[in-house]
Amino acid sequence: MAFVTRFAPSPTGPLHLGHAYSALLAHDMAQATGGTFLLRIEDIDRTRSRQQWEAQILDDLRWLGLHWPEPVRRQSDHIADYEAALQRLWAKGLLYPCTCNRRDIAAAAAAPQEGAPMIGPDGLIYPGTCRPDTPPTGAIPDGSALRLDMNRALQQLDENVVFAETGSGPEGQTGAIAASAATLIDHVGDVVLSRREFPASYHLSVVVDDAAQGITDVVRGNDLFSATAIHVVLQRLLGLSTPRYHHHRLIRDDAGKRLAKRDDARAIATYRAEGATPDDIRRLVNLPPLHLAG
Ligand code: GLU
Ligand code: ZN
Repeated sequence: MAFVTRFAPSPTGPLHLGHAYSALLAHDMAQATGGTFLLRIEDIDRTRSRQQWEAQILDDLRWLGLHWPEPVRRQSDHIADYEAALQRLWAKGLLYPCTCNRRDIAAAAAAPQEGAPMIGPDGLIYPGTCRPDTPPTGAIPDGSALRLDMNRALQQLDENVVFAETGSGPEGQTGAIAASAATLIDHVGDVVLSRREFPASYHLSVVVDDAAQGITDVVRGNDLFSATAIHVVLQRLLGLSTPRYHHHRLIRDDAGKRLAKRDDARAIATYRAEGATPDDIRRLVNLPPLHLAG
């Protein structure tokens, strides 16, 4: 069966050891099955994305021995695709404009709600301040963020939110993973699908792009495991098929902390400058040498 996967870095900092592991693992899994490894540049964050980081990331990936079919998909080139997806969801009455800023949401979410968790896979769980009782009509208004009405969305789905996990989540979750409506409403909530500055959010663009690139197997860090249910909801609403997911462990620093973008000590560029070889990088993340990986 065809195996098509991708590595999808955001060009907002250097490629570090954690990213390299993700890219190498996806590449090795594709090689092992005679599949395809694709690259995608996730540059929808226009304030933090830099051309110079993109160039450095591509250079580091090539140095690691990875190759991929051209052209590379760059999200900023596909605004029309995201707008089309938003139009479909808007026409179904599932989106609403939200004018809250972070401070408004924090203030409203801080109101005591017994037992309700505050942080979900999309950050603070939106308290619903701007959610209308009936779906908005007319054209999508310019210049405001759009949120998904999660409750209404789930009412429109006639299938369960399930996906196949071939790796494992942070708590070892594997196999068939199901998310209940209650979990999605209370622990995820009305996620942002379009931002004031760019007509897509991470969740929307990743779903549109995985479908556009024909991805059969998503390989990525288990920090994104809990976001996957959101992606499955969007796939169902947009009539897109759900790939298999393979979430992998995160590479941590010596103190056990997750590597951050600013962690320059773990930047691949730093290892390169110090004379490391690509197989040294593979050894550091416990992957077999390149010739064994194919
Ligand atoms: N662009 C995301 C990141 O750099 C990865 C998204 C994904 O693999 O779904 O964290
Ligand atoms: Zn709002």
